[in-house]
Amino acid sequence: MKAWKHFCTINHHKMLVMKQCFKVGLYKQGLLHDMSKYSPSEFLVGCRYYQGTRSPNNAEREDTGYSTAWLHHKGRNKHHYEYWIDYSADPEEGIVGQKMPTRYVIEMFMDRIAASKTYMKEAYTDAHPLEYYDKGAAKLGKMIHEDTAALLHHLLKMLAEDGEDKTFAYIRNVVMEYKRKRKQR
Ligand SMILES: [Zn+2]
Repeated sequence: MKAWKHFCTINHHKMLVMKQCFKVGLYKQGLLHDMSKYSPSEFLVGCRYYQGTRSPNNAEREDTGYSTAWLHHKGRNKHHYEYWIDYSADPEEGIVGQKMPTRYVIEMFMDRIAASKTYMKEAYTDAHPLEYYDKGAAKLGKMIHEDTAALLHHLLKMLAEDGEDKTFAYIRNVVMEYKRKRKQR
């Protein structure tokens, strides 16, 4: 039963992210988002710790001290800033978050909206993803690159203030368009 529920939760999440990504023109990422959740390393752990109200990774962490499913996931999915953590080229700096390509920042933004919707259900508002991010942001330090954090925060704030339609149009027409033009040059 838990396996079925977990399967439905990840399918539902993927569908939400896909629809949102398609709206801004990220087709390939929309289709391939979180595919590693179907691999045994992630899927079986997800079934075992399924709760429905939060990520099973949190339950695994509380049980064993760390989440093997998350370690597997973040090493394979570029829409997580944790994927981009590496030693700095400057030996003085130690381990830091590298700047994420724009398209993955957008996928991360979509992921956060979908996760908020899934876990908050009827209580979801456009302000929730920003509130959730702000709660954790102070603890991130150098683990997220400042440019990545700035773009993510900018989009979350726009979502909270102006809603999805306006923010998605802005991503499609301004953020992605700017990228396309730079590529052509
Ligand atoms: Zn993911």
